[in-house]
Amino acid sequence: MNEAKETFREVNESFTIKEAIDEAKRCLNCKNPSCKKGCPIDNDIPDFIHQLSMGNMGDAMRIINEKSNLPAICGRVCPHEKQCQGHCVLYAKGKGIQIGKLERFIADFDTEMNLIREKLPQKTRGKVAVIGSGPAGLTVAGDLARQGFNVTIFEGQSEAGGVLMYGIPEYRLPKAVVTKEIQKIEALGVNFILNCLVGRDITIDQLFQQGYDAIFIGTGTALPKDLNVPGNTLRGIVQSSYLLHMVTIFNQNIVSRDAVPMHEGDRVAVIGCGNVAMDAARTAVRMGASSVTVLYHRTEADMSAIPSEYQEAVKEGVKFMWKTSTKEFLGDGDGKVTGIRAETPEGIQDLPFDCVLLAIGSRPANRIVSTTTGIEVDETGYVIVKERPYGMTTRRGVFAGGDVVHRPHTVVLAMKAAKQVAAGIAQYVDAVKLLSIE
Ligand code: SF4
Repeated sequence: MNEAKETFREVNESFTIKEAIDEAKRCLNCKNPSCKKGCPIDNDIPDFIHQLSMGNMGDAMRIINEKSNLPAICGRVCPHEKQCQGHCVLYAKGKGIQIGKLERFIADFDTEMNLIREKLPQKTRGKVAVIGSGPAGLTVAGDLARQGFNVTIFEGQSEAGGVLMYGIPEYRLPKAVVTKEIQKIEALGVNFILNCLVGRDITIDQLFQQGYDAIFIGTGTALPKDLNVPGNTLRGIVQSSYLLHMVTIFNQNIVSRDAVPMHEGDRVAVIGCGNVAMDAARTAVRMGASSVTVLYHRTEADMSAIPSEYQEAVKEGVKFMWKTSTKEFLGDGDGKVTGIRAETPEGIQDLPFDCVLLAIGSRPANRIVSTTTGIEVDETGYVIVKERPYGMTTRRGVFAGGDVVHRPHTVVLAMKAAKQVAAGIAQYVDAVKLLSIE
């Protein structure tokens, strides 16, 4: 591994067995557990912690699996301080149980030891196509496979995982962890068809012709937004999502360092202050930027980044300029960006930069809905869904969930929505089969 790749080692360390059990023993096993209320997918937190405290790793894992298909991932990237951990009764005293780290420990232990061998039902309830293999798609697929559906995931990239694989950097979520979680979903009997982009290689109508009873769209928000100011086509202005993708495949030795759109020694600006901005900023640090500055038009209190990610970025030397709006990108005669003209609390300033990373949001691509009929989207391109059956679009049998419906959110919120849609799909397919209206 070269020096740049070495810096992408996972930042947070795992518990040892003794540390995990000791931490679990601190839990009060509250009768009315507030930690559980803070979990978007209603994980049975005190129960799995209790099993762990007694050394029953298999039972702890079984309890987690009842609610989550991706615990090794959630244990790493969920905003625990805002969710379970932040709601723990011991949190106010500064002694909150480290729930995320415990979940991660159990999931990693299970992967290593291959503890769980689930009894799976025959796949006779129906055939479901899942488009996209990010958190929403994997959740729907896992839930439906466990309930006896024959599920196939269609993924446009050469590897499954979506944003988990290509969006979240290695130091926060090692790709080996993502691959292993996906292998567990595969072990539930889910089929994966990779390098197949629905809307280009196959359409929704063709999928129905192939005999699928229902189709789930979980394609997220693939189109990053542009900043519409003068100079925005200059070379060196790059979408953060593109940088993160290229760095991931550079770390996997698929492309060379030259393919990464940021050079060692660059003075880097990041525009935006959400989690993607933090990932881009911290990635730029690891790729050898000489300085990294986040420009945000609002205040520190308004940023959407998880506080711990922001603090990590500060620790790693990322600078923040609040109430700073980009008015224009400045360039040289060769069409290369040289800086940003910004409105700051001190007035208009020209700030020198060699590379600008945009992280101002994303929206759904309309590749799928534009190549079929009957799926309505709102004025900004988000898919419109119904309450009954939960998650069905305006086209019968086609469902959607995760960011493509609810706008970009955290991994666990995409999972939460997807779990409800999986229940809606099961209900719909059962009803169709019962009434034989197909
Ligand atoms: Fe344990 Fe904290 Fe949950 Fe109580 S609130 S059950 S102490 S993790």
